Amino acid sequence: MHTKKYGIYGGQFVPELLMPALEDLESEYNKFSKNPDFLKDLTYYLTDFAGRKTPLYYARNLSKKYGIKIYLKREDLVHGGAHKLNNTIGQALLAKYMGKKRIVAETGAGQHGTATSMAGATLELDTLIYMGSKDVKRQMTNVQRMKMLGSGVKAVETGSKTLKDAINEALRDWVTNIETTHYLIGSVVGPHPYPMIVRDFQSVIGNEVKKQILEKEGRFPDSIVACAGGGSNAIGIFYPFINENNVKLFAVEAGGNSMQVTDKAAMHSASMCSGEIGILHGACTKVLQNREGQILESHSISAGLDYSGVGPELAYFAENGRVSPCNVTDNEALNAFHELCFTEGIIPALESSHALAYVMKNAKSGLLGDLVVVNLSGRGDKDLNTVINITGDSYENC
Ligand SMILES: *Cc1c(COP(=O)(O)O)cnc(C)c1O
Repeated sequence: MHTKKYGIYGGQFVPELLMPALEDLESEYNKFSKNPDFLKDLTYYLTDFAGRKTPLYYARNLSKKYGIKIYLKREDLVHGGAHKLNNTIGQALLAKYMGKKRIVAETGAGQHGTATSMAGATLELDTLIYMGSKDVKRQMTNVQRMKMLGSGVKAVETGSKTLKDAINEALRDWVTNIETTHYLIGSVVGPHPYPMIVRDFQSVIGNEVKKQILEKEGRFPDSIVACAGGGSNAIGIFYPFINENNVKLFAVEAGGNSMQVTDKAAMHSASMCSGEIGILHGACTKVLQNREGQILESHSISAGLDYSGVGPELAYFAENGRVSPCNVTDNEALNAFHELCFTEGIIPALESSHALAYVMKNAKSGLLGDLVVVNLSGRGDKDLNTVINITGDSYENC
């Protein structure tokens, strides 16, 4: 029972109707996560479909410039362009082993929907993606991508017509079709057992880093830095190091335009840094909310970090001091994006650029030590329009 909560965080704050589904998912996961056939299949898909293991790349030019050794964990090289497939392959395979024929998922900007569609296609599962109708209009290319991969895309017209409404609809579908359907959640959020399941599937990142850094440096890093939206790439790289107390762990949230909030919205998405304890999507966690407990809309230049909550386990580690939550602004992330492009020849996702920006800002202070691993959670091709709209396509000022 104790694994259902992380201190006061986590739990299962859901309608009674969902409880049997969550209990079934937990017992099936506990069974199959130790099943040799399941593990063999998982390794096969992670290796030959997703392209693991990903390199741990020594960023020579960046290291020289900042005077510390900087390694990049290259999740940008995973099939689909981000760490998201580690989770969607894991859960889709679990669904298959559970005898489910169908998966449903929510998506905001469309990245998780796309990664789910890839996994659904290769594992021959009927796939339906719920997406707010506002997001459908904003992210047409991703909608087309999902359809090309064989998924249905259902535009959600309720509420604010964005991510949180898509989550509600996906949950409704799941409860109605529980016999045939698995709900494939996109980060370490939601009611137990989701935060645990997604963390386990994403821990492949940290487990690889552990071996790779020992081979290359003969020791563990002084610090590991990752961006945090829901928190899955962060906890995925942190978790295998959680008992290595000499390794500092930094979770970089989106500081947006500023740390200001109005009664309806925050100018940022830094829920660990400035949120308060509340319930969001079935879990107790740190949530951006106003004095009445209404959830505030969040803001970030990067769609993947634009979320009003954070995974409950990360909130717990932030509270007990094991993980240091911090944030950088949209502008700092944007500068880091450009800098990685021209110093290392790698176009990072705007999400990952937050982690890079934090390293660039703090490298010389000694805070991070001499040996740093940054989780490069994804590639930036998806972000070119966002960047060009802000910076223009001339880089004379960089
Ligand atoms: C979705 C996404 C994120 C944010 O999700 P987490 O669960 O916080 O990891 C970060 N980076 C990239 C590239 C993403 O696509």
